[in-house]
Amino acid sequence: MIVSKNVFRRSCAFIVLFLILIPQNFEAQNTKKGKRKKKSEVVAQVKKAPKKTIASLTKSSKKIDGLFTIYQDTLTGVMQMVIKEDQLNQEYIHFAQIADGVLDAGRINRGSYQGSKVFKIEKFFDKIDFIIQNTSFYFDPDNPLARSKDANISNGVLMSLKIELHDDKEGLYLIKANDLFLKETFNQIKPVRQPGSSPTAFKLGSLDKTKSKIRSINNYPENTNIQVEYVYSSPSVLNIGSNAVSDGRNVSIKVFHSLIKIPENNYEIRLDDPRVGFFITEVNDQTSTSSAPYRDLVNRWHLEKKNPNEAISEPVEPITWWIENSTPLEWRETIKEAVLQWNVAFEQAGFKNAMQVKIQPDDANWDAGDIRYNVLRWTSSPTPPFGGYGPRLVNPKTGQILGSDIMLEYAHFTNRVFYDKLYSLATLEAPFDENDTNLNSHETCTFGKTMHQDIMFAHAVASVSGASDLEMERIKKESMTALIMHEVGHTLGLNHNMKASQLFSPEELANPEFIKGKCLTASVMDYATLNITKDRSKQGQYDDITVGPYDIWAIQFGYTPFKTGKERYDLLNQSTKPELIFGNDADDMRSPGKAIDPRVMTGDQSNDAIQYSIDRIELSNNLINSVKDKFIKNDDTYQELRRAYYVLSGQQASAANIISRYIGGVYVNRAVAGQEGGKQPYTPVSYEDQKRAMNALKRYVFAPNAFDAPNDLYNYLAMQRRGFNFFSGTEDPKIHAQVLIYQKNVLNHILHYNTLQRITDSELYGNTYSLSTFMTDLNHAIFKADIYSSVNSFRQNLQLEYTNMLIDMITGKQSSRYTNNAKSMALYNLKAVRTMAVPSGNISSRAHKQHLRTLIDNALKEIK
Ligand SMILES: [Zn+2]
Repeated sequence: MIVSKNVFRRSCAFIVLFLILIPQNFEAQNTKKGKRKKKSEVVAQVKKAPKKTIASLTKSSKKIDGLFTIYQDTLTGVMQMVIKEDQLNQEYIHFAQIADGVLDAGRINRGSYQGSKVFKIEKFFDKIDFIIQNTSFYFDPDNPLARSKDANISNGVLMSLKIELHDDKEGLYLIKANDLFLKETFNQIKPVRQPGSSPTAFKLGSLDKTKSKIRSINNYPENTNIQVEYVYSSPSVLNIGSNAVSDGRNVSIKVFHSLIKIPENNYEIRLDDPRVGFFITEVNDQTSTSSAPYRDLVNRWHLEKKNPNEAISEPVEPITWWIENSTPLEWRETIKEAVLQWNVAFEQAGFKNAMQVKIQPDDANWDAGDIRYNVLRWTSSPTPPFGGYGPRLVNPKTGQILGSDIMLEYAHFTNRVFYDKLYSLATLEAPFDENDTNLNSHETCTFGKTMHQDIMFAHAVASVSGASDLEMERIKKESMTALIMHEVGHTLGLNHNMKASQLFSPEELANPEFIKGKCLTASVMDYATLNITKDRSKQGQYDDITVGPYDIWAIQFGYTPFKTGKERYDLLNQSTKPELIFGNDADDMRSPGKAIDPRVMTGDQSNDAIQYSIDRIELSNNLINSVKDKFIKNDDTYQELRRAYYVLSGQQASAANIISRYIGGVYVNRAVAGQEGGKQPYTPVSYEDQKRAMNALKRYVFAPNAFDAPNDLYNYLAMQRRGFNFFSGTEDPKIHAQVLIYQKNVLNHILHYNTLQRITDSELYGNTYSLSTFMTDLNHAIFKADIYSSVNSFRQNLQLEYTNMLIDMITGKQSSRYTNNAKSMALYNLKAVRTMAVPSGNISSRAHKQHLRTLIDNALKEIK
């Protein structure tokens, strides 16, 4: 385009003019600024240009001195933290516990410990790094391999924070600390969603940074404690949660974070031994050639004798317990006495008054979140997660217990029945839920929950037999004492001893004089059932009122200041004494198919658990017959009767499970080779006891009249109405479903692939109750009594369910887990049922038998 030439020239001229003008403008500006600068320089001679200092960067903040100095802005709440030069490259412990949560979101409840870990603070150029240290391995420092101790071990860099200011004169680094705490930096708080979990299940929204906040900062020379409220938000939710959740879209979880100085003391690590049940910090010795290169650290308190030369001395620092001011007044004395019972054990380990108890004043200026205090706490939660819980804060480098709390649930000392749990009462709690990824699941304690059913049972028994109020109080007091001793035991480092109930015979337990003042088992760390005698005239103590012989021995192992290796060796060698037997959750048989030693069971009692369980079933049966007369009260609803009925039938179910564990059982002995009194590790249960168990199941679980109750009782099993609370389901008592669940719980164990495999295997090493004999006995127990006549509705249910289980063993999803021997016996039994189930009896029975035959015929067609 030609036109543009002129335009171009004019534009150029304009640009040139502009370019000439601009620098002049700049200069003009600079001159003005310069003038101003000159003025300010004058001022600066008096007041220097503000140089950034910690003081200037924190001038609107409150300074909180402690292990790590914290500055919190008084307007915005923003937190800054000072790291001292000498804190670099040092290790500290981080510990978190839930201050308050909601159980809808998982095991996030007040007082639950989230574990402790060691972290190191490092400087990297202009940043401060917080790095988690690995404490799982040990290298002998004298072994050259120790030089490669970091090979293939990942440390976790939690956070890398910019240094806002370095005061090199004082050796201080200032960092912004909000991200350290307001994000899930140290701990993952929000639980991971389990694969396969229901899409309609309650779930937390996303962490909302704008709503989350620092709630409190408490700083001490040895630890810095910060309470954070994490808010999880979601614009809309499908499941609004239980009544405990005020708004399902905005859920708060409050967490205490503690940064702790690693104690400098002369604490000595103590290595674990499998014959005693301490919680441990697992450490692998990477320079050992042993087939079990374990260097596991016992978790224990640092107890040191004031006078090391005395056989029994007070400790330099006792273990002090505080009864929280939330504790019901009437329980305080009982709780105190129960805690102090442990001094009986400590005296045998050389310590006097090792345990002390104080009461938190109502106006105390500290709370249980303060890790300097060990607190016995009370809550009354909407959905109690436990009855008691005694977690520990442990130094992962040494195993030293630095602090502990106990959480107690009031609900378990009331008559509140958790109806949603009723049908599963009999199975108790599964300790190892395969879907549970909570790594600490072996540390959870459901003793209070189990005990709650027992207390209600004891109350039902006592009130039917016309017991006095005093007797009722005794039940509560003894069970509270046992519960507190149990939970305190956990805080001292002891894990469960589910084998301890084997100590006394049923006769001894039914001898009030004999058991008076004793621990009813070898250890308060068991989940033994309350001692309730069938013959009411022989009722003595209901529960443990002091610690047991195993507890004393275990405390000796954990706390005696051994002078020589031989002292420790000799003490451990006593493990073969009957009162020192031990087996923990890993060995216990409460879940069907899990573990092998029937003596390591929960809810059982005595060294003849089969007989004790039979007595319990007969006692419950007798009571069910009279329960209607005893529990219906004029002017009241039938809630009490309903509760009593479920408590009694729950006890029958629980007793049946205990009996079932003897079938295919193998006794385990933990003694080491050559130990005096030691036995071989595996000894199958005798033929007589397995047969006795089978006969008991036949009579009390499978027989046509096993769960008989007066029919007119069912007319009264009504729940108290409340608003619209039957809206989502029907209210009728589902009697058949309940009985079938009890029977299936037993079958799930005795027909479990692990049990059947063990029966065949153990025939090689002493088991004489063979698979073929057992499975034939079972078939007879379920069919023989009525297959040629009319079959009642309970038995029809049982027979059909059992037949389906046999079919599943051969063709079901789990069939590949069954051995060929087991499958052959299942097929053999199915054919026997097919032959027996000829049309006879009433129409209902004929229909049932036809159903059985059709199922079997169809299954046989599938089998190639
Ligand atoms: Zn426990």
